[in-house]
Amino acid sequence: MNNKTLVFKIDESNFADIISKAARILKQGGTVAFPTETVYGLGANALDPDAVLKIFEAKGRPADNPLIVHIASKDSLDMIATDIPPIAFELMDAFWPGPLTLVLKRKSVVPDITTGGLDTVAVRMPDNPVALALIKEAGTPLAAPSANTSGRPSPTTAEHVISDLSGRIDAVIDGGAVEVGVESTVLDVTSDIPAILRPGGVSLEVIKKYVGEVVIGYTDQAVEESDVVRSPGMKYTHYSPKTRVVLVEGDGMAVAAKISELIDSYSEKNMRVGLLITDETAKHVSADEMYSLGRRNVPEDAARNLFAGLRYMDGMDVDIIIVDGSVKCDGVGVAVLNRLRKAANKLIEV
Ligand code: AMP
Ligand code: MG
Repeated sequence: MNNKTLVFKIDESNFADIISKAARILKQGGTVAFPTETVYGLGANALDPDAVLKIFEAKGRPADNPLIVHIASKDSLDMIATDIPPIAFELMDAFWPGPLTLVLKRKSVVPDITTGGLDTVAVRMPDNPVALALIKEAGTPLAAPSANTSGRPSPTTAEHVISDLSGRIDAVIDGGAVEVGVESTVLDVTSDIPAILRPGGVSLEVIKKYVGEVVIGYTDQAVEESDVVRSPGMKYTHYSPKTRVVLVEGDGMAVAAKISELIDSYSEKNMRVGLLITDETAKHVSADEMYSLGRRNVPEDAARNLFAGLRYMDGMDVDIIIVDGSVKCDGVGVAVLNRLRKAANKLIEV
């Protein structure tokens, strides 16, 4: 493993130069973290098994959890996927570049390590100028899972990447904070009825307009090792800070009352309490450390803030993190609640 991770701060003045330096590392089989619109990704040449192995090693990612392959042009599809159904092309036209990943039949040029040995490959085109320029310049599709240590909250800034992976990857491009904040929606279009394998940046309601019937192929709970899962990533613990997380879900006023009660009881035990909280609930309660999830009825706010908030609390030496789950479970809010439920050690519904 390498010792020094290069940090490239990118802006308009040095854009081409940084892209060229980072692409060179990728062409030589190295690893580069870069911003996408969803979260930071850790990229390597998706078609080079030795390069992809470095991603798994750096993240400590289980070998059977496949990676999403990122492309910059639909022209690359022919190389990696086959038997692409018409609905897939309709979805690409509607959502690419953007936070929708399509699971397609793979071609053999995509190595087993990239797909976790599956006969399918997950593909998306990210909506971020740095990501698109990097893929183009590297001249190959890039495998790029979230650039965090496996199991930790996903990274939404370059600082998060550095905090997890410094010394374990070749470089990171710092392009500022991401826009969406939760990962892409994963949609399997290899069967007659498409299946959502992960809720994400593109909402279920919007996808339904295109595909009609859709199977919900994910759960919000951590899945037992022995269960048969369609998307291998579902069975692992996810998004978890080091500190215990209690998620309180329900109607706004009831959530505020429950959180207030919890703070009192933890404080009596001399525990330091961290709160991830909507602006509305924050009017009723306070704790040792607070981090805003934004407006309750604007789930885009919580999407942008939730991973940074979980990481912030880990740095604040609190004994317990209480999360306000009164965020509207609509649109990207479905993905927000999914991530929070997976991160939580305990769920209280009021
Ligand atoms: P990440 O790269 O961290 O955003 O995680 C990628 C997600 O996509 C994981 O949940 C994977 O299990 C899922 N995924 C990737 N490739 C496939 C595939 N071929 N079939 C089903 N799920 C996949
Ligand atoms: Mg991930």
